[in-house]
Amino acid sequence: MKDTNQFEIIIIGGSYAGLSAALALGRSLRKVLVIDSGKPCNRQTPHSHNFLTQDGKTPKEIATVGREQIANYKTVEFYQGLAVEGVKTANGFAITTHENKTFVAKKLIFATGVRDIMPDIDGFAECWGISVIHCPYCHGYEVRNEKTAILGNGDYGFEFSQLIHNWTKSLTLFTNGKSTLTNEQTSLLQKKTLKFTRAK
Ligand SMILES: Cc1cc2nc3c(=O)[nH]c(=O)nc-3n(C[C@H](O)[C@H](O)[C@H](O)COP(=O)(O)OP(=O)(O)OC[C@H]3O[C@@H](n4cnc5c(N)ncnc54)[C@H](O)[C@@H]3O)c2cc1C
Repeated sequence: MKDTNQFEIIIIGGSYAGLSAALALGRSLRKVLVIDSGKPCNRQTPHSHNFLTQDGKTPKEIATVGREQIANYKTVEFYQGLAVEGVKTANGFAITTHENKTFVAKKLIFATGVRDIMPDIDGFAECWGISVIHCPYCHGYEVRNEKTAILGNGDYGFEFSQLIHNWTKSLTLFTNGKSTLTNEQTSLLQKKTLKFTRAK
């Protein structure tokens, strides 16, 4: 009998990166398992932007279309859950899930994304992707000309302030501690607009 837990490739993480790998491998007639715990980094954001053909869609809509298209490739299977353990075997890898199911494959792809580490500021994590924004190209347009605070210091705070100035002139740079901007950087920012203030 054929072992249903045996695959050529296991992909851990079934968001955009994992689904992209699954699509290419499905089209290559490879027997693939995608293990996904369903917690992509952008899950709190109401809409995605700056992604051609997908502008304004929710993160979930984009992933759903991806999964639907991959479902056409019958050699790709999905498992919803968390991969909690992996071991190297003589022929590849064995991956165990939170339900204690084990799957084996010759090759392994990690598409687990990154974990954003939030600063210890009340409400920051709850607002992540909604009103606390990490990428001006993804979400800056929606809050253009709004009163905006930048959390940053030193060269990063300086460069980012200059960049964001194109979306809004009402900016405050919070250095959260002693400013490490040079005097030249500080006066350049202050010259840019009178509304430009620097929190001490
Ligand atoms: C708040 C926010 C808003 C964003 N907005 C935009 C935007 O508007 N436009 C844009 O182009 N980009 C945007 N991005 C960036 C975009 O979301 C990422 O580039 C993209 O999600 C990365 O895809 P990924 O597949 O590498 O990782 P992720 O999307 O983070 O997916 C990783 C997947 O792996 C799974 N996983 C992790 N560990 C395991 C495990 N052990 N077992 C099983 N599954 C596991 C997770 O559950 C998750 O589903 C945004 C990012 C954030 C944080």
